[in-house]
Amino acid sequence: MQVDGRCHCGYVTFEAVIDPAQVSICHCTDCQMLTGSAFRVTAMARSEDVPQTANLPKLYTKTGANGRPRLQYFCPECGSPMFTTGEGKDAALWGIRVGVIRQRASLAPSRQSWCRSALAWVTDIGKLPGTETE
Ligand SMILES: [Zn+2]
Ligand SMILES: [Zn+2]
Repeated sequence: MQVDGRCHCGYVTFEAVIDPAQVSICHCTDCQMLTGSAFRVTAMARSEDVPQTANLPKLYTKTGANGRPRLQYFCPECGSPMFTTGEGKDAALWGIRVGVIRQRASLAPSRQSWCRSALAWVTDIGKLPGTETE
């Protein structure tokens, strides 16, 4: 599926090809901290379909629970998380943060990981009173 998107300020824009069947939620504590939110949603792309960006995102490398580096790309101007990949064979796949994909409304996740660190209230937010706008 061809997608496109941008960070919040528009400095980083991209086009990519993702697999809509490979959209997942991650509840790990790194994703919670790196997003400033409860969990992260990511769509996967093969490296040959690597996101094409006009301006280059900034790179922060974290070490995953498996001891391997995870490259975290984000906009240097507004901080929006954009992409992730790894090194060596881990570089075969790229993840694109679903929140920066324009077509995100049609990219429902099909699995979730690191459920042991999921915030206990996450599964109950559908019951909260809500408003159409702020
Ligand atoms: Zn930006
Ligand atoms: Zn995670």
